[in-house]
Amino acid sequence: MSSLAIKNLRVSIEDKPILKDLSLEVKLGEIHAIMGPNGSGKSTMAYALAGHPKYEVEGGEVWMDGVNLLELAPDERARMGLFLAFQYPTAIPGISMANFLRAAVNAVKGGGKGNGNGHGQGIPIVEFRKMLTKKMDLLKIDKSFARRYLNEGFSGGEKKRAEILQMALLEPKFAILDETDSGLDIDALRVVSEGVNALTGPERGFIVITHYQRILNYIKPDFVHVMYNGQIVESGGPELAERLEEQGYDDLIKAKQ
Ligand code: ADP
Ligand code: MG
Repeated sequence: MSSLAIKNLRVSIEDKPILKDLSLEVKLGEIHAIMGPNGSGKSTMAYALAGHPKYEVEGGEVWMDGVNLLELAPDERARMGLFLAFQYPTAIPGISMANFLRAAVNAVKGGGKGNGNGHGQGIPIVEFRKMLTKKMDLLKIDKSFARRYLNEGFSGGEKKRAEILQMALLEPKFAILDETDSGLDIDALRVVSEGVNALTGPERGFIVITHYQRILNYIKPDFVHVMYNGQIVESGGPELAERLEEQGYDDLIKAKQ
């Protein structure tokens, strides 16, 4: 059974240790929620897994299908089936959603860049269009969305939907969503959660990073972990999220100090 196994991960930013021996294993078919106060290192974990150069890996391993992802370049990690949806997606003016998504799919799943006319390497346009339509139907996203420019003038909810659509096309084995709920109103939250739920299944594992319990009313985690000061200080089932919602982080963290 394939899993994403983070073992004793230590990460610094500008020589400041942020993650301190972080360990976590996610199996296919599982949804893990990572909660914790701001500044505890949740986004650092996501960026380090993605291979962002600012995050210096000082130690540890991240195993997936017999490969230590930390030894791979970011694009190779993506080709292995790792996907990250970031807290703050950037706008890319002048690139339509459809073109961006096709480039992403070719980079991760196809063999090379493609020459734009359906010949040579990459996924032919006609085939890509079919894929895109299928995934947009699955996620109940309006067709006009694909013609818009990437993240330009997108609402918070639309940016997140664009990321979910990207995830649907890339069909990753393991997906990490970093505060996909932040800044979303209830309707947008529901749309994003429904999208995620449409993509869950035995062939995929999820790490859902969230500060608030709210999104966990829509996405049901199998496991809940609390991160504090660069470590997982508590793990449990969905009831842990409910307890945190009622009690806040303070008591739990005090007990760990
Ligand atoms: P979380 O996502 O849990 O809120 P972060 O991973 O963003 O936490 O931050 C963890 C710690 O790393 C914080 O102390 C924060 O100040 C620091 N940090 C995060 N990103 C940077 C950065 N780009 N440069 C310097 N320090 C950073
Ligand atoms: Mg964060």
